[in-house]
Amino acid sequence: MTMDQARRRVIATCIELADKGYLAGTGGNVACRIDDKHFAITPSASDYYSMLPDDVCVLRLDDLVRVAGDRRPSVEHKLHANVLRARGDCQASIHTHQPIASAYALLGQDLEILLPAHRSMLGRKAICTGYAPSGTGWLASKLRKSLRPEINAYFLRNHGVVCCGPTLGDTVARAEALEIACSDFFRTAITNRTDSDCDEYLSEVLTLLVEKEELEPAP
Ligand SMILES: [Zn+2]
Repeated sequence: MTMDQARRRVIATCIELADKGYLAGTGGNVACRIDDKHFAITPSASDYYSMLPDDVCVLRLDDLVRVAGDRRPSVEHKLHANVLRARGDCQASIHTHQPIASAYALLGQDLEILLPAHRSMLGRKAICTGYAPSGTGWLASKLRKSLRPEINAYFLRNHGVVCCGPTLGDTVARAEALEIACSDFFRTAITNRTDSDCDEYLSEVLTLLVEKEELEPAP
């Protein structure tokens, strides 16, 4: 892929994710491998709808030196570099604040992926990394330690989601599959809930989702 192609695909992916409500303003970011030494990444705090190809940063994968783009790269560039270094099979890494999976990330636990169609996209579970503040090397390092060859979706505790895949299109589809898997988890939790198995976090999240009309109230 050429640098120009990668930059245009990063923009198209950001707009697709923003249209789905997965980026929450200027949150979230998208990275795409250009060749074995370089990747394209969204600039920091960008309005995705007015972003131009020249705004998209190009960094060297080994030392994160910026080789193109006038803007500062996303604060999460180390996190995405760790994904692309560890997962040579992946050309894309996206970080979202998609609402339901981000709510799941408050629970601080892995999610077992139940549907075979979702398993083939995400792996047998989505792994939750421990908490670290956004944009820190600490967060990038925690995710690096969680990365597994067969797992394509990760929760950043109390924050959001990272998915990786062979193309940007496949990676967006994985983020959507994760959103559905998390919705299914909450629906099941609401249907089966009792006072004893709803911990404080879970009941808070369920209430929020019902208020936002993301979920039907439990009977
Ligand atoms: Zn974030």
